[in-house]
Amino acid sequence: MHFYLTEEQLAYQKMAREFADKEITPFARELDEKEEFPWEILKKLHALGLHDLAVPEEYGGPGIDSLSYSLIIEQLARGCAGVVVTSSANGNSLALYPLLIGGTKEQKERFLPSITKGGKLVSFALTEPNAGSDAAAIATTARRDGKHYILNGSKCFITNASYAAYHTVFAHVIDGSGAKKPSVFMLESSMPGVIVGKKEKKMGLRCSDTAELFFEDVKVPQENLIGKEGEGLRLAMKTLDLARPSVGAISLGIAQAAYEAALAYSKTRVQFGRPICKNQAIQFMLADMATQIEAARLLVYQASWLKDKFYQKGTPFTEKAAFAKVFASDVAMQVTTDAVQIFGGYGYTRDYLVEKYMRDAKIMQIFEGSNQIQRIVIASRILG
Ligand SMILES: Cc1cc2nc3c(=O)[nH]c(=O)nc-3n(C[C@H](O)[C@H](O)[C@H](O)COP(=O)(O)OP(=O)(O)OC[C@H]3O[C@@H](n4cnc5c(N)ncnc54)[C@H](O)[C@@H]3O)c2cc1C
Repeated sequence: MHFYLTEEQLAYQKMAREFADKEITPFARELDEKEEFPWEILKKLHALGLHDLAVPEEYGGPGIDSLSYSLIIEQLARGCAGVVVTSSANGNSLALYPLLIGGTKEQKERFLPSITKGGKLVSFALTEPNAGSDAAAIATTARRDGKHYILNGSKCFITNASYAAYHTVFAHVIDGSGAKKPSVFMLESSMPGVIVGKKEKKMGLRCSDTAELFFEDVKVPQENLIGKEGEGLRLAMKTLDLARPSVGAISLGIAQAAYEAALAYSKTRVQFGRPICKNQAIQFMLADMATQIEAARLLVYQASWLKDKFYQKGTPFTEKAAFAKVFASDVAMQVTTDAVQIFGGYGYTRDYLVEKYMRDAKIMQIFEGSNQIQRIVIASRILG
């Protein structure tokens, strides 16, 4: 076991860090204040090949290993978590995993190149008003009608819903006997009956779009069913496993940005005639922040490395992905809260970005399987 990154991984890390410093951080406050969708930044990420990070090269993606993917996400999230959630993390990768792991070659060739070439967005539409943590409770239905399915239902809290060209939608296929088979479909946003609803006003990730989706008698060709009828929940759970290292990586980026800001501020803020970093109380907070971030980084990088083993050999990594997501997001919440504390009253104002980091960190503990649900997953593994 060694802990060195390859030349290629270091190059990706550097490219993403420089991009974040130049193209994201300077605009993070304005995007947050205006709740403005980051189209211009997305275009630049796409031009650099940093948009559809999970997609293999043969379908127009960068075809990178999963650790490189996490290194990139971590650096971009140092700039703004909302941007990275929109682009590669909770946005396109999450939405494309069902197709990548459950789709046929024909389906991948049909959908992926047009998405990756055009820098198009895709949404992952699982959550419903009465089906959050309990994903099996979805009420959206798909009834067979000749060579089509007719979809009806609604989704909420869907990232990129207003801007996506495609939606990956989870619905129960109802067969002749009335039995429900959870299934997943690729929908085009232009299909008649696909309606975008209310856009959420959020605490954090304000430049990212989160909205409702409604389906009213949407006619979906049977070729758009991903996997088989009844495989939808399995594909949803695998997708969420695959996405969790990315939530960990975004959390790391947020925590790192908050820590760097607090460290710098503690050296310049003078009270009682000396910089506040001369006080052991502040030093211990900084030491704990650095230690926690380093521990989270090891878990996230390990889960990212195992993600490739899962792809190549099917090696299970559910538990390790949950460790990384829970720990890194809890660390991000703690570190950003402490960063605000170190900034004192100024940290509570919008003059500094630490309050934004704290707001952005909170959702990392909630979405893609809340941290309570992750602990249930971990407990069920350790208890057998
Ligand atoms: C900004 C944002 C973006 C999102 N993006 C997407 C997206 O792109 N696609 C998508 O499908 N969804 C998305 N979501 C939805 C998100 O995944 C859900 O909010 C999340 O899964 C939790 O569901 P819920 O909000 O209904 O909470 P609930 O399931 O109602 O849970 C409420 C609380 O109860 C706890 N809880 C629930 N069950 C248990 C239990 N058995 N034991 C202990 N505690 C429990 C939860 O941890 C939580 O703290 C997004 C949400 C937000 C806010």
